[in-house]
Amino acid sequence: MARTKYVAGNWKMNMDKAGAVALAQGLVESLKGLNAKYMIAPPFVYLDAVSQVVKGSNIILGAQNMTVTDNGAHTGAISWAMLKDLGVETVILGHSERRDEFNESDKLINEKVHKALDNGLDVVLCIGELYSQRVAGVTNQICENQVKEGFAGVKEDQLSHISIAYEPVWAIGTGKTATPAEAQEVHAFVRNVIKGLYSQKAADEIKILYGGSMNDGNAEELLAQPDIDGGLIGGASLKVDKFTTICKFASK
Ligand code: PEP
Repeated sequence: MARTKYVAGNWKMNMDKAGAVALAQGLVESLKGLNAKYMIAPPFVYLDAVSQVVKGSNIILGAQNMTVTDNGAHTGAISWAMLKDLGVETVILGHSERRDEFNESDKLINEKVHKALDNGLDVVLCIGELYSQRVAGVTNQICENQVKEGFAGVKEDQLSHISIAYEPVWAIGTGKTATPAEAQEVHAFVRNVIKGLYSQKAADEIKILYGGSMNDGNAEELLAQPDIDGGLIGGASLKVDKFTTICKFASK
């Protein structure tokens, strides 16, 4: 079945405010008229400024993370309500950098998934294996566990609000991309996990994005795979021309 492709830019901890605004302005212009789904996730502190720029465009405003609590004495934390207040519609959860640098567990990520969905935010849930796990032949097992734990308690009627990003950790920011065939194999496996947890319809409809050094040079082939429904892009999302090229491949 035809799923609309979804290209999301994870800007991570990059740029200053002027650079963030300029990048967003450039993308609003260059993505005009393209017909896939597009999201950008600037650093928290630039969300407000970027929100003003993307308002009324075909670009969804995303956040790179969200805390699990509603409010109160949680120094440095950012809640779902604060994000929504700035026009954020989607939150990236479970990114490998959050799992690794901030010790986020599958349990915490699942709690955040529920907090986001229950409060009207869409989710891009990241999963993916370490290089040592790929070499040990346990890629599918790792991805299955992360999907099962991340989706625990999520109801089938909430699935239209959640996408999966398969991001092999060894491919993130390294310039090493999974080959289209390697990525397709895991995507098909993950789709089958969703079928087992929910239904064939759920598996057919969920979007599974690839992330890990996707760029303007390799995106066309990756996006041509039957189970790759888009990309979560880090480095290549920081340049208008590179990100636009990827978005155009998705828009075909
Ligand atoms: C990411 O951060 O999700 C990512 C895929 O980064 P990069 O494209 O730089 O590998």
